[in-house]
Amino acid sequence: MTTKGSFENDFDDYSPTNLTPLLNENRDGISEKFQAKLQNYKTAKFAFLITKLEKELFCDGTVYTGSTGLALYYLMLGLGNHDSLQDNLQKALDYLDLDKLKGRRISFLCGDAGPLAIATVISHKLGTRRPNYLPDYRELSVRLLNLGSLLNDSPDELLYGKAGYLYSLLFVNKYVHGRNVISDDHIEKVASLILKSGKEFSQHTKSESPLLWQWHDKVYLGAAHGMAGILYILLQARAYIKSHDIRGFVRPTIDWLMKQQFPSGNFPSSLHSSSGDRLVQWCHGAPGFIPLCILAYQVFEEERYLKIAIQCGDLIWQRGLCAKGYSLCHGVSGNAYAFLQLYQVLKKPVYLHRAGCFMEWCAVERQGTELHRPDRPASLFEGLLGRIYLVEDIINPQTALFPGLCL
Ligand SMILES: [Zn+2]
Repeated sequence: MTTKGSFENDFDDYSPTNLTPLLNENRDGISEKFQAKLQNYKTAKFAFLITKLEKELFCDGTVYTGSTGLALYYLMLGLGNHDSLQDNLQKALDYLDLDKLKGRRISFLCGDAGPLAIATVISHKLGTRRPNYLPDYRELSVRLLNLGSLLNDSPDELLYGKAGYLYSLLFVNKYVHGRNVISDDHIEKVASLILKSGKEFSQHTKSESPLLWQWHDKVYLGAAHGMAGILYILLQARAYIKSHDIRGFVRPTIDWLMKQQFPSGNFPSSLHSSSGDRLVQWCHGAPGFIPLCILAYQVFEEERYLKIAIQCGDLIWQRGLCAKGYSLCHGVSGNAYAFLQLYQVLKKPVYLHRAGCFMEWCAVERQGTELHRPDRPASLFEGLLGRIYLVEDIINPQTALFPGLCL
C-alpha cells in the first residue's frame, strides 16, 4: 500500500519472449485456462448477485447504481450473440422499471434517459414478442425526446447532464438500425446547446480554451463530470456538429486539455486542483482520457493524440491498482478498460495482458485490497456487476465498450 492511493503493481509486465499464462498462443485473446477461471468466477458471483444482493440491485432504477445496470448487461450480452438475443432481452426486462422514472435527471447513467434508451432498443429488438406492458419503441423514443424539456436546467457533464443525454440519443440510433428513431434535428440541437454553454463559460472566464464547462463551481477535467467526457461524446456526435465548430472549437479545446497533463502522464481532476497528481481512476484522471485521445487520433489523424493515450496507459499500469477498490467508476475494473481500449486500436498483446492482470486482481480479491466498501455493492458502476461486465469484455476484447460512454 502506498500513500498515493494505489497498491504496488507486482504483476510481471508483458514480455514477447516470456510465457504469458493469461494469453493464448497467438496472443490475440486470453488463454483457455484463464477463460475457464473467469467463467467460474462469473458464475459464482452472478448467482450471489441476483440472490444475496437482489435487494441492493433494486435500490434505484438507474444504470449507475441501480437495476438498469443489469438490464444493460443482458442487452449487451444479447447483442453480442444473436442466438441468445431473445432470451437475454426477456431477462433484461426483469430489471427495467419504467414506472419508477422520476423525470428529474436527463442522463444515461444517473437519469431517466438510460432506462428509456435501453427500453427503446429492447422493445424494437423484441418486435412482436414484446410483452403487453412494454410500450412500442416509437412511444418510448418519444418519451426520450420529451426529456429534452429538462435540457436548460441540466449541467453539461456526462453523469447527470446533457452529454449523458446526447449519449442516450446516439445509443438508440446505433442499436435501432437504419431507422433514425431520433431525428438529426434533435441530436444537432442537444450538441449545439453543449457547445453554446461551453463557449459562453469560456468567454465569461476569459479562458484560453475556446470551450469550458463547469459542474458544481469547478472545471472538472475527467470523464465523469468534466471536459474529457463531454469532448468525447461531442466527438462521437461529430456528424451532427458543423465542421467549423469541430475545427474552431472542439479540436482546439482538446489540444488545450492535453496541455494540462502532468509529467507523470496523469491528468488533474479539476482545473487549479490543489490535490495534485493523485487519482488514477475512470471518473478522475488518466483512465477517462484514453477514449478521447484514441478517437481524436482516429478523427484528426495525428499521432500525438495516440502518444498521450499510450502515456496514460503506462501510468495506469504503474498506479492503477486503486486502493479504493474494484469498481468501474473509481477502481481497478474501470482501469482495465483503459487497456482494452488501447488493445483495440494498437492490437498489441501487452495491453490485453495488462487488462488481464487487472481483471485477475479484481477476481482474486485478496484481503485488504478493497479499502473502501462501495455504497452500492451490487451496482454496475460501484459494485460487483461492474466486474462481471468486465469479464465478458475481457473474453471478447475487440467488442468491449465502456458502458455509458463508448459506442
Ligand atoms: Zn467515480
